[in-house]
Amino acid sequence: MIIIKTDSEIARLRKGGPILARILQQVAHAVKPGVTTKTLDGIAYALIAEAGCTPAFLNYKPDGADRPYPASLITSINSEVVHGIPGTTILKEGDIIALDLGLKHDGVFLDHAITVPVGTIAAKDKQLLSITKSALDEGIAAIKPGATVGDIGHAIESFVKPYKLGIVRGLSGHGVGREIHEDPYVPNYGKKGKGDKLKPGMVIAIEPMLTRGAEEVIQMKDGYTLKTIDGSRSAHFEHTVLIKEDGYPEILTIF
Ligand code: MG
Repeated sequence: MIIIKTDSEIARLRKGGPILARILQQVAHAVKPGVTTKTLDGIAYALIAEAGCTPAFLNYKPDGADRPYPASLITSINSEVVHGIPGTTILKEGDIIALDLGLKHDGVFLDHAITVPVGTIAAKDKQLLSITKSALDEGIAAIKPGATVGDIGHAIESFVKPYKLGIVRGLSGHGVGREIHEDPYVPNYGKKGKGDKLKPGMVIAIEPMLTRGAEEVIQMKDGYTLKTIDGSRSAHFEHTVLIKEDGYPEILTIF
């Protein structure tokens, strides 16, 4: 069921969004060669606590998982697409790392992700990051009165096509707000006019995941990390977006 947020929930989401965006930016500032992903998770946890909020992913148990997620931050390096668990891995010059963070602020949930370079990265990886970020912008720009979730997927897919990058299959954006994952399903590819209609008061997370190769992913033994099947590098950007009264989008996870 798609939940239309109340005025009070929208007001709280508007306050929480910039808090999450600032925290993720601070975590990104700590990314450099020699740092472990566990250190980044510690920074995220401390900043969330300092802001009086709660990490949304810590101890969250998705459907089908056999244990709750053990960290606040999600760190997915190079060929890892999403759901990488922070640990003893040391970041190296030339890596790319996706930082995905969910926040509970004053009873409401927000979701936000960026992918950042570790030191100097290859030109092809720079392009992957920049196209994925632009694909997110294109998806958001497809939101207008009468639009459907399919319009978002179609906009992302049409934008990405000329660059010959892969769009990860089987993973999508989602509703967010009362829970970290809600209806509707928000695809990163598909047909115009398909799927649920976007209505004022809906809040969705849009999150294109692109790769330099295959579109298929495989799950690692940790039960969470998803990697590209061919080892190609992947990037992920995500914003939580409100459908405003006039039918146009407002990015919440920004400051
Ligand atoms: Mg998400």
